[in-house]
Parts: sequence; structure tokens; C-alpha cells
Amino acid sequence: MTSHPADGRLYIDGTWRPSASGEVGIVEEKATGARIGSYALGDVRDVDQAVAAARAAQPGWAALSAPARAAYLRGMADHLRDRYEELVTLSMRETGGVRAKAEDEVTTTIRQLHISAVQATENAGDILPPYKAGKLSLSRAVPLGVLGVITPWNYPMNLAMRAVAPGLAFGNTIVLKPAELTPISGGQVFAEAADHVGLPAGVFNVVTGEGQSAGWALAEHRGFDLVDFTGSREVGLAIAASAAADLRPIRLELGGDNAFLVLDDADIDLAASCALLASLEFQGQACISSSRHIVMREVAGRYIDAVVRRVEALRVGDPMTGEADLGPLISTTQRDRVHKKIVEPSVAMGAKVLTGGTYDGLFYRPTVLGDVTPDMPAFTEEIFGPVIPITVVDTEEEAIALTNGYPMLMNSVFSADLIRGMRVAEQLQAGEVHINDAFARHGAENQMGGFTRRQWIGVQRTPLTLPEWTADPAARA
Ligand code: NAD
Repeated sequence: MTSHPADGRLYIDGTWRPSASGEVGIVEEKATGARIGSYALGDVRDVDQAVAAARAAQPGWAALSAPARAAYLRGMADHLRDRYEELVTLSMRETGGVRAKAEDEVTTTIRQLHISAVQATENAGDILPPYKAGKLSLSRAVPLGVLGVITPWNYPMNLAMRAVAPGLAFGNTIVLKPAELTPISGGQVFAEAADHVGLPAGVFNVVTGEGQSAGWALAEHRGFDLVDFTGSREVGLAIAASAAADLRPIRLELGGDNAFLVLDDADIDLAASCALLASLEFQGQACISSSRHIVMREVAGRYIDAVVRRVEALRVGDPMTGEADLGPLISTTQRDRVHKKIVEPSVAMGAKVLTGGTYDGLFYRPTVLGDVTPDMPAFTEEIFGPVIPITVVDTEEEAIALTNGYPMLMNSVFSADLIRGMRVAEQLQAGEVHINDAFARHGAENQMGGFTRRQWIGVQRTPLTLPEWTADPAARA
């Protein structure tokens, strides 16, 4: 899998080139450790070049008609579609996800390009109420300019494309820095798609590299009109602090400690089945994973039994065998974080391992923790691993109070009474709440983002992305 043109190279100004340092990093298959490719270790010198190229290309790109830009996006989508099987396999090997996750991600990524292509041709702005009789007021959508996009490793294709596709569609040019654990599916394949369709030089650039060097160079660069970051709260805070110094525009999509509420009238089989999807999809390594299960006492025993029974039937292994429900965690760092910072300290504080709690290499057994109290890391921290911590409460009010107060993107509420479910959902401070459902895979059509009071500076509103990727100066006549 090393034959792709991007292997070990950056894509800047329409050309493949080595990084200024000349150094490369190795990309490993997560399940086996086998080498699957390499990525150039870019730094501030490469970012400078990419920003200059993107800046030079932006006016020409914005001046193209919307249908012309849309045609490029559709061409990129077609290119990715032609490589569908190859990309699914790449995603499985590079991220360690099972086939269903990989298929969903590739499909969503392609769909995002098509959605953005349509949006570009449909949204031009608004007619405003006249400020005075006989006057006409218009608000016109214009591109922001040059965007820096920094993305994580968990859904590397999808999370890049939800910024890249609308960004390009609305006339912006882009420098993308994918995560170093997934630089191929997160960046190189998009550079290949751009190259394949002959996107004008400089419109889309990919600078691979480490977070501390290439990532920080992007985050600090004065040449962007917006830096869009998806990743950890820790790095997001550092970027926000740096940007605050001279009010550079940024958008942050950070992590969440999402909750899964099971009320005393819930359908327990349904809740337990959804629990697996909510907490164990991609080994729990999603910003929308449920990492706190808050269950009312009347149904707690039955819920725990139903969850444990299902979890014990799951198979952990190499996704490429086709016989695994869960693959490996992304790295030893991530595994150690889950085990040493979440599971072990919670157990030391009194949590009980009901199943799992052990690992073999990067393969972490799906784990259910009982007797979890709100002071334990399993409750207070985003887990980002295959762990279902269960906390028992006595009342609905207690469940709501315990849920709120943490950064959350997506919660679930289970109740046989839909009105009750909606009433509880309305009181939860999450960007999105599902009633009697869990939604581990986020389609390109859905709004995605957190409850803004907590830690998101921007919410990516697909399909209503126009305000996110454009400015809208008003014209009055
Ligand atoms: P991370 O913050 O370590 O890395 C994300 C990206 O930032 C990577 O490209 C990395 O190279 C880069 N980076 C790292 N240090 C940097 C620095 N100092 N300056 C600039 N860039 C830097 O996060 P991760 O471990 O890749 O991803 C997991 C986190 O992402 C979790 O907290 C998860 O909740 C969050 N996440 C959020 C969403 C969302 O939509 N809100 C989606 C997926 C993941």
C-alpha cells in the first residue's frame, strides 16, 4: 500500500514535494504494526509555503462560478468513489476500525462533497428587509479567504471533509494538517483527489507532520482567515490562548463527556442494544461516544445484566479478518490513558469491573464498570475507549442534574413515554439528544457540534454551513 503518489510527500501549490526537513514518519497498520506508508514531517517552513500558495490562489478560485467549483468537488467525489474498496481497506488498516465504520466514513466523506457542491450553487446570500421604503438591501455570502484545518485521527476522512468540502465550495482555499496517526486517509488521499481533478494549484494543500511542529505552525500562523481545529480540549485550549493574543479567528470542535440516561420506564433490551453502539463503536474513540451511563435504580439490575451479556458476546481482533466487532485502540498512549487514567483509578475508588478491564497489546476488552460514582474519572473524564461506566440514581431530577455540568455533544435518553423523554431531553445541555436511540455514526446531513456554552466556539451546521464558511457583508441600494 505504498504506491500512492503522496507517500512521504507534501502537496503544496499543486506539486508533490518533500518536507523542508526532508524527514518522514512511518504509518503503521494499527492491528498488526505493519508499515502501510509514510508521511512527510512538515514544519513551519512548509506551512509558510502552503499559506503563500493558498493566498495566491484564493482570488482566482473565488472568482470561478459556483457551478465550476462544484464540478471540481463532484470530480473529487467521483475519484474517491472509484477508489471505494481501496479506501475502505485503508481506513480499516490505518485507524483500526471495523469494516462497517470504514464504509460509513468513506460514504459520508463522498456525500459531504456532493452536499457542498449543491450548497455552493444554491446559497448566495439573502434579501434583507429594506431599511427604508424604496431601498433594496442584500446580504451577499463571500468567502472567508484562506482556511487552516487541523484534524484528529478517529474519523480522519469525515472530519477533514466536513471542513474542506464546504470551505472549497464557498470559494475559500485550504491548508489541511491531518493527524500524524492517520495522515494517509486524513490528508494524502484528498491531495490525490485534488490532483486527479486538476484543482487549480494552491487551492488545496496538505501539510502532514506532528502536532507540535506542523500543527502548531498552522495554529499560530498569521496568514489564515480562519483556523478550524477538531481535536482534544487540551490542544484546543492552547490554540485558543494563542489566538486570543491578537484575536485571530479560530473555530474549535473539542471532546465531550456524553451521557446515556436510562429512565425507570425504559425498554431495557432496546437501551442495552443501543448502549453498545453508543459506547463501543470504533472502540469508543469518538467525540460523540457515551461515556457515562446514568440509570434509575428500578431498572439498574436488569440494565446491567442486559449490557454485560451483550458485551461478553463481542469479539475483539484484527478488523481485516472480518471476525472482529472491535478492533485495536489507536495507540499505546491512548490505551494507557484509558487503562491507567480512567479504569484503574476508578476501580481504586470503588468501581467494579463487571466484564473486561484487561488488554492484549492495543486490543482492549470492552469493559463494563458498575458502582461508578460522580467523583470517579470514569464519570468526570471523556473516556475515548471501550468502557461503559454505570452510575445508579434514584430520581429523574438527579439524573438530569448529574448529566449537566460537563462538556457534551450528544446524549441519549431512554423512556417508554416519548413526552417524558422529550421533557428530559430539553433539560440536557448537549448539542444533540436522541430519544430511545443512539447515533454513533454521524451522517453528513446532520448538525454536529456541542452545546456552545461549554466549549465549542463554533458549531458546524451541516447542511446549514453557509454562515460558517463565508462572511456576509450587506449591500444597500
Ligand atoms: P489532538 O488534539 O491530540 O490532535 C488533533 C490534531 O491536532 C492532530 O492533527 C494533531 O497533530 C494536532 N495537534 C496536536 N498538538 C497540537 C498542537 N500543539 N498545536 C496544533 N495542533 C496540534 O486530538 P486527537 O487525540 O487526535 O483526537 C481526540 C480528541 O478529539 C478527543 O478529545 C475527541 O473528543 C476530539 N474530537 C472531537 C470531535 C468533534 O467534532 N467535536 C471529533 C473527533 C474528535
